[in-house]
Amino acid sequence: MPALLSRLRDILDDRDIITDRAEAEPYLEERRGRFRGESDVIVRPRDVAEVQAVVRACLSEKTSLVPQGGNTGLCGGAVAESGQVIVSLGRLNKVRHLDRANNTMTVEAGCVLADLQIRARDAHRFFPLSLGAEGSCQIGGNLATNAGGINVLRYGNAREQVLGIEAVMPNGELFSDLHGLRKNNTGYDLKQLLIGSEGTLGVITAATLKLYPHPDQSITALAALRDLQSSISFLEYAQSGSGGTLCSFELMPRIGLDFACRHVVGCSDPMTTPHDWYVLLSLQASGDAIDVEILLSRILETAFEAGEITDAVVASSEQQAQDLWKLREGLVEGQRFEGGSIKHDISVPVSKVPEFIDRASETVTQRVPGIRPCPFGHVGDGNIHFNLSQPVEMDGTAFLALWEEINYLVHDQVAELGGSFSAEHGVGISKIDEMYRYKDPTALAIMATIKRALDPDNLFNPGKVIPAPDTDTDTDSR
Ligand SMILES: Cc1cc2nc3c(=O)[nH]c(=O)nc-3n(C[C@H](O)[C@H](O)[C@H](O)COP(=O)(O)OP(=O)(O)OC[C@H]3O[C@@H](n4cnc5c(N)ncnc54)[C@H](O)[C@@H]3O)c2cc1C
Repeated sequence: MPALLSRLRDILDDRDIITDRAEAEPYLEERRGRFRGESDVIVRPRDVAEVQAVVRACLSEKTSLVPQGGNTGLCGGAVAESGQVIVSLGRLNKVRHLDRANNTMTVEAGCVLADLQIRARDAHRFFPLSLGAEGSCQIGGNLATNAGGINVLRYGNAREQVLGIEAVMPNGELFSDLHGLRKNNTGYDLKQLLIGSEGTLGVITAATLKLYPHPDQSITALAALRDLQSSISFLEYAQSGSGGTLCSFELMPRIGLDFACRHVVGCSDPMTTPHDWYVLLSLQASGDAIDVEILLSRILETAFEAGEITDAVVASSEQQAQDLWKLREGLVEGQRFEGGSIKHDISVPVSKVPEFIDRASETVTQRVPGIRPCPFGHVGDGNIHFNLSQPVEMDGTAFLALWEEINYLVHDQVAELGGSFSAEHGVGISKIDEMYRYKDPTALAIMATIKRALDPDNLFNPGKVIPAPDTDTDTDSR
């Protein structure tokens, strides 16, 4: 490391190299406290040339590096071990160009997601990627994890928002296709290889993103469902009745609402009687050809008549809409006050969401009587955060010791229903074992071949996403 440090000092300003333990802390701490970073060196390059020089220095000193954005990832992907260098992208935070006619903006990797949403809005455009961590996650991290969030139903995941990427590859070369083209069939789509690669194939330094017309109209409602199965019938009504304006369709269980109302300031139940299941939905449109208020009231009316929903609250102001969304966010925050929580980020075909929740809840309850399932999330795209709060009387540490065992019980159910053990958060370190267990061996072998071809020394975020190169990937052998 001393040789590398001296090379880094030639490349970067001293202020952009962190070796002090206290200063390093925010870069080492992992969100959920499941993993602990131990990196001795954090670098904060200010431009692409510096990123390239850092990568080349690491390459020649055979030192591995871990790209880091806002460090909000939930799978340990940005955690670095001792002897590894963290390359923090936060200083590459310029919007290079916003092209209103082309409906694109070219931005650097370290731009904070919420800032980009504002930048788009200022140009009367809309950038739809939206998630709970948007105030601190960075677009580079969003692309590296192919983030999802609350608008996937209408706009797709992060990868669908990208027209071009710039990245420093493991050999130190700069790959750049920041052209903003919507049609370009000239061979392999390399940007899509980098998106979702979690820092294992390149350091993303910039991207050209799609913009959409700014939605002038927006309406939000909370509906109480007859039962869990009704979430799917209600979704059908909402999709067919919304004329393509349905953006979000979020499932919330009663226990989640209770957690939010019990622990989070500003959260209160807007309905007079409690219900087992709720859906929070939002419609958005631009221009005045469509009236989202009328569309929503028709959707609710039809669903009431069909008996799929039993109550509903429609936000009549921006503040009320925010209050309803606060319940959705508060549900996550409130879980922290209910003791240990074992998390899952799964997806199944939308039609199978109720079956998955029923089956998985039964399985985990058999294993841990009194466990409190709190399944919530993006039911509109089949992605459920199947979070499990500990039984009230159980010791939290003893409960959390069951994390992996419970994960397998749940992920086995997911696999049986044709789903994925990682819907939107990625693999990182936390789901490497699942890659062995559930991922198609041919897919794993192709990934390993790509990794070897681009990063023969395995220096880019080693140990993340794909099993180590010399490890047996035969699931039967584990
Ligand atoms: C409260 C909360 C709510 C969340 N809600 C959602 C949600 O709804 N949907 C969702 O998908 N996620 C969600 N997340 C998870 C997280 O915010 C996303 O995964 C996000 O995309 C990570 O961005 P980041 O900048 O923090 O990346 P980091 O955590 O810093 O890094 C994540 C991974 O990307 C790699 N990486 C980061 N930057 C780069 C780069 N420039 N080039 C190459 N690789 C890079 C890292 O090496 C790591 O593997 C949530 C997290 C929190 C804390």
